[in-house]
Amino acid sequence: MGALLREALRTRGGRLPPKVSLAHLPTPLDHLSVSHFPSGAPSVFVKRDDCTGLAFGGNKARKLEFLLADAENKQADIVLTVGAIQSNHVRQTIAAARASGTDVEVFLVDMVDRKSASYRTSGNRFLDEIMGARVHACSTDDASSAIKERLLELEKEERTPYFIPGGGSSPVGSLGYIVAAFELMEQAQNLDVKVDHVIHASSSCGTSAGLAAGFSLMDNPPSLHSILVASNDTSAAAKTIENFAHNSLALLGLDTSPRIRQPTLYTDYFGTAYGQPGAETVRAVRFAAERLGLLLDPVYTGKAFAGLLDLVAKDVFGANETVVFLHTGGVPALFAYEEEFGRR
Ligand SMILES: *Cc1c(COP(=O)(O)O)cnc(C)c1O
Repeated sequence: MGALLREALRTRGGRLPPKVSLAHLPTPLDHLSVSHFPSGAPSVFVKRDDCTGLAFGGNKARKLEFLLADAENKQADIVLTVGAIQSNHVRQTIAAARASGTDVEVFLVDMVDRKSASYRTSGNRFLDEIMGARVHACSTDDASSAIKERLLELEKEERTPYFIPGGGSSPVGSLGYIVAAFELMEQAQNLDVKVDHVIHASSSCGTSAGLAAGFSLMDNPPSLHSILVASNDTSAAAKTIENFAHNSLALLGLDTSPRIRQPTLYTDYFGTAYGQPGAETVRAVRFAAERLGLLLDPVYTGKAFAGLLDLVAKDVFGANETVVFLHTGGVPALFAYEEEFGRR
């Protein structure tokens, strides 16, 4: 735990629940060369949570540190989770379970309308396979009943399953992003940089909620911009964020809980559906790859970076301001989306 978080917990009488060590932390905070942005653009940093280590990294590693500790605490002998066929969360959950010697089974839901062989077998799906998890394939309609059934079955066999919700998003999972919020601000302080804005991709809302909760414990926090990539229902997202943030802070056992500052939620970069990159997303992935040598993913960070480029073009940020793009990972999915980049 960094000094900034330790101090915030000490002054408020809180403490961090236990976590297991799975991620490479702190992740780097890199300054982007501004020469590729229009004049008047803000200073842009990238918080490299694609570099958390755990089986090619990504934001789920931070959540899983707390989720696996919770599973251990509950004496679970098997963890189960669920996600899309190209889920980064499922890949990292399998890796986390393997790293901590826990049995693991996953439910892969056929929820994204993509028929290519690469989508169905490559990228994250291939990594799931080589890490050797038992995979239950299911449709959107039968996923929740299949999970319930399997949980009952395991209990009958006197196993102790621990179910991790999709995206690892829960009050426990969000603790990882309370830690990240403080880690980021401490790094910025050490660089003598004032962070004005943080922008990132949001789907199951655990990342957004953790950051919002962390920032609400600070004086003069940055504004948080959450780019929705899995739905354009902002009121549902706002409710989920409020709920996770509030309950995640409660897990810190603070004497007084602050009011949560809601992030600004954007639906303009969502496109047509979760898992379907539009032309702007592909353009953003290419821009970052060709101009910056920075690999983004087609499902999450590509959409969020398209949002960043658009907000910069619209002068939403001041020329003297600093924006941090949180790179949440997902790069293995590129191999499942080759055809979006002109490959057949
Ligand atoms: C899961 C994921 C997100 C979204 O995080 P949530 O906490 O589910 O909102 C963003 N980027 C990548 C690469 C992810 O895998």
